[in-house]
Amino acid sequence: MRAARGYAALVVAAVALLGGCTAADDNVPIGTRTAKYTEPPLPAKAVPLVTDSPLPSTNQAQCGDPTASLRPSSAGGPTVDAIRARGRVIVGLDAGSNLFSFRDPISGAIVGFDADIAREITRDLVGNPDLIEFRNLGSGDREQALQDHMVDLVAKTMTITCERRQKVTFSTVYLRANQRVLVVKNSGISGIADLAGKKVCVVRGTTSLDHIRRYQPAASILTVTTWADCLVVLQQRQVDAASTDDSILAGMAAQDPYTEVVGDSISPEPYGIGIPKGNDDLVRFVNGTLERIRADGTWNRLYRQWLQPVLGPSGPPTPTYQD
Ligand code: GLU
Repeated sequence: MRAARGYAALVVAAVALLGGCTAADDNVPIGTRTAKYTEPPLPAKAVPLVTDSPLPSTNQAQCGDPTASLRPSSAGGPTVDAIRARGRVIVGLDAGSNLFSFRDPISGAIVGFDADIAREITRDLVGNPDLIEFRNLGSGDREQALQDHMVDLVAKTMTITCERRQKVTFSTVYLRANQRVLVVKNSGISGIADLAGKKVCVVRGTTSLDHIRRYQPAASILTVTTWADCLVVLQQRQVDAASTDDSILAGMAAQDPYTEVVGDSISPEPYGIGIPKGNDDLVRFVNGTLERIRADGTWNRLYRQWLQPVLGPSGPPTPTYQD
């Protein structure tokens, strides 16, 4: 009885569906029917780069070796004391960055290489890796969030540069990435040289945008607010490529097996934990945690868990100190 009713419902649905398909097209000869496909919308805040906007300055800020940081110390000071008094650490990151900081679909927790390094810092600061509060940041928000003290730290694939060091400060290098190119497989694009006259997606406020503009001025650029948006516009074929760090691109390629990372390194991208300027006690403290995780195997464990499957084997970067 129940099966018969189900069958009847199916027939009704099928008739309705067929009716829906044929009614509109019945009298239009095949070959002259207009396609009903419409272009998918661009992600919110996707903006083509205005080609006559000024190129980033080529006389870059000079600061010697930008990756040289303060020697580690767990002595603490006013910033560390304030965080401990609050009892939790506020960390800025991108909650949609596969492999670095993204939601575990089962637990709902933010996990990944950056999120777990932030947890190790939190463990040393307040005694429990879970006493952490994540604030979602786009790439273009990172420096301002630190300058406004909205967050204690930024753990978001953030390249250490002299320009950025004018506004914020950094830990030692915790990962070395290289900018490359992501394309749909068999696209015929094999690196940055092939992007002349092509559409490329990049996130605003990144070193990736500056490098594409400088090294491939003949590309037309679509800017968005997150790398996840770049994957969407590549999948929708609204761009021919996306370009940023191989580490981020590898996370995108893992999400879509029809895409691949191509070409040589466009530029080295050493990652540091971003810290507000002046919070030197916190810089030294974070560098202490980074020393610990390099020495006790935690860095290797996190790298093996999150990045080795897509980036191949690697070891912790050697720190450079300025004092
Ligand atoms: N490493 C690049 C940067 O810091 C891109 C990373 C990102 O957008 O998260 O600008």
